[in-house]
Amino acid sequence: MIFDSIFGMFSTDMGIDLGTCNTLVCVRGQGIVLNEPSVVAVKRGTNRVLQNGNAVGIVAKEMLGKTPGSISAIRPMKDGVIADFDITEAMLGYFIRKVHNKRGRLWHRPRVVIAIPSGITAVEKRAVLNSAERASARRVYLVEEPMAAAIGAELPVTEPTGSMIVDIGGGTTEVAIISLADISVCESIRVAGDDMDEAIAAHMKRTYNLMIGEQTSERIKIEIGSASPMETEMTQEVRGRDMISGLPRKTNISSEEVREALKEPIGAIIDCVTRTLEKAEPELAADLVDKGIVLAGGGALLRGMDTVLANATGLDVVVAADPLTCVARGTAVYLENLEMWKDTMESDEDEF
Ligand code: ADP
Ligand code: MG
Repeated sequence: MIFDSIFGMFSTDMGIDLGTCNTLVCVRGQGIVLNEPSVVAVKRGTNRVLQNGNAVGIVAKEMLGKTPGSISAIRPMKDGVIADFDITEAMLGYFIRKVHNKRGRLWHRPRVVIAIPSGITAVEKRAVLNSAERASARRVYLVEEPMAAAIGAELPVTEPTGSMIVDIGGGTTEVAIISLADISVCESIRVAGDDMDEAIAAHMKRTYNLMIGEQTSERIKIEIGSASPMETEMTQEVRGRDMISGLPRKTNISSEEVREALKEPIGAIIDCVTRTLEKAEPELAADLVDKGIVLAGGGALLRGMDTVLANATGLDVVVAADPLTCVARGTAVYLENLEMWKDTMESDEDEF
């Protein structure tokens, strides 16, 4: 204990948001020190990470959809489950070492708090714990993503009152009602930002015979996507490959069309939120009448997401400040209060 606090001054104890799209690392007293896509480039057909030392994160994301024959860029957490243990381990290890080594405290191994999607299995949790340990972590604690998001969004999670968080990421949407530092009800679905991108790509194919890549559909979503009508609708030029002629071509699409294409994934997210509310204890549900719902994750930034959820639930809905960093900032708060939170977390001291 006493050693912990003395060494703590020199350590790079870190909180990690291991997201399906982005991984963020927060260090005590320094804020967010790493924010990179959860992408790894591997030799095609193997799970061997490319040996040039930087085939993870930003560099690897630029390769998505553009890799030459011998390389593929993989998102190992894509659906909120660990698709490939070895690649996830390589990615997590790379990020931990990058943060730890840069700060050069090699004699003191860090404590690490990792936020993981709430849907992952005991085996996957064990894999995350082991990976972090192998990447030089002294002790590893796991927290559920919605709890970390709620803390990062500064909801009063430790109080005896209901707080509701909806975290819309890339691969998963996680919805939870929290009270007294515990998750009372939660739901997690594998529908989120990626499905919106896919819905836009499917629309382009169906309506215009135009094939577009993942990055292009994501850009359309961010630039003109919406969940409810906008004051001024927009149009955008889209480039891709014509399915019939096979040649590059461009066309224009409107924000109304994009909204129509997004109806299905957004409908699934709304259903997930209403299902969670239906399962809430009456006292906690009553609290939400005054306190409403807070949105986090990149999907919270889609125009009109708050409005459609407010219409569907009749509750106030607000987007958290800086929704993309809520989970990472939440893990940092955990780190600062480890003694208080320790009993509520799974760690490498527990048996699974
Ligand atoms: P994860 O926690 O799963 O890694 P994030 O919370 O980082 O996910 O959110 C990533 C998702 O948010 C992606 O699908 C991305 O396209 C989406 N996103 C980011 N910015 C916006 C925006 N302005 N509008 C709509 N979606 C956005
Ligand atoms: Mg997330």
